[in-house]
Amino acid sequence: MNLTTKIFIGLILGAAVGITLHFTAPDLFGTLDTFIFNPLGTVFLNLIKMLVVPIVFFSITLGTASLGDPKKLGRIGGKTVAFFLITTTIAISIALSLAYIFEPGNISIDTADASYESEKAPSVVETFTGIIPTNPIQAMAEGNMLQIIAFSIFIGLALAILGKKTEGIMKLIEQGNDIMMYLVNLIMRFAPYGAFGLLASAIGTMGLDGAQAMGMYMIVVILGLVIHAIVTYGSAVSFLGKMNPIKFFKGFFPAMTVGFSTSSSSSTLPISMKTAQENLNVPKPVSSFVQPLGATINMDGTAIMQGVATVFIAQVYNTDLSFGQLVMVVLTAVLASIGTAGVPGVGLIMLAMVLNQVQLPVEGIALIIGIDRLLDMTRTALNITGDAACAVVVAESEKKYDDASEEREAMQA
Ligand code: ASP
Repeated sequence: MNLTTKIFIGLILGAAVGITLHFTAPDLFGTLDTFIFNPLGTVFLNLIKMLVVPIVFFSITLGTASLGDPKKLGRIGGKTVAFFLITTTIAISIALSLAYIFEPGNISIDTADASYESEKAPSVVETFTGIIPTNPIQAMAEGNMLQIIAFSIFIGLALAILGKKTEGIMKLIEQGNDIMMYLVNLIMRFAPYGAFGLLASAIGTMGLDGAQAMGMYMIVVILGLVIHAIVTYGSAVSFLGKMNPIKFFKGFFPAMTVGFSTSSSSSTLPISMKTAQENLNVPKPVSSFVQPLGATINMDGTAIMQGVATVFIAQVYNTDLSFGQLVMVVLTAVLASIGTAGVPGVGLIMLAMVLNQVQLPVEGIALIIGIDRLLDMTRTALNITGDAACAVVVAESEKKYDDASEEREAMQA
């Protein structure tokens, strides 16, 4: 049996065991969760999280150094950011359209008790100005992804320019990267058990509470995720990436299941990168650059949830959004999804920013918080798929430059 099938079985079994115990034996669930489910999930999560910072540092440094040329890096960077912005805008537009068609908020729901303490969301300007780390060691200790990415790009550029002089360090980084990739392989063997533990724990704890009342909202979000995956990524991958979409989704499926069970793009990163490099043949320098950046700033699934949630809350509170306000929702949701960290539940915190922008009550978040864990899983799976789709597209578009430089080298030889 291959690993993907095993992880999938782990997921299904975890969900089945969790839901059964939730309804039939809640006390037994409590004990099993404390001693088996939760520890299994936590050990797996910690194992992959352990690799995130070193993998981002080694792989981006190596990727930048092997691209060699700052022009090429700029080109890849430009295409990557353009892809992220365009697909996120499409994602929110799909979400808003579906929310207006299905009107999930047209239900009678008691909003009197709804209260929500909004946490302070980082402003977009802060996110941008904070990209350069004043202390790279601190950035690594805190796992500040954008800062680690920036520092690694600087080191990679320096290595490329210094060439022979820094051969030793280059070798060290190459070997560091090999070690990390080897460890990802090793840890992946534990993924089926981890996925089982995470799912059993999450589903067993929350059961299906709220799912009935919020059914329509959940269906609209999930429909948005599926349409975006199939239509947007499917066409991007086949037309721009020249890859059969079925091959794409099948190849990337193992990473999607891990994203689903961890609800964290950032923790899933080592596995997303390995899967894209091995199953989708994305060259390492492209994958190392596009995917860590994507896991930090590209969150189409989160944007879809935010779009549907905004319209849902407006409908529940009987507020009409003007066309201008909808455009505002698109703009702020793009920014909010850039600012959302790839960890569980942050998308909901950033939703406050979107709601504030169009003067909707932030308390509305209290209505959807109960069922957000399940949606977080599904949107995280989509978030990382968007990064992989971008990597496939950028890799294909870089081929012509690679072919040209190979030809040049052959002619020189
Ligand atoms: N959990 C999501 C992710 O890591 C972010 C969110 O929407 O809360 O991609």
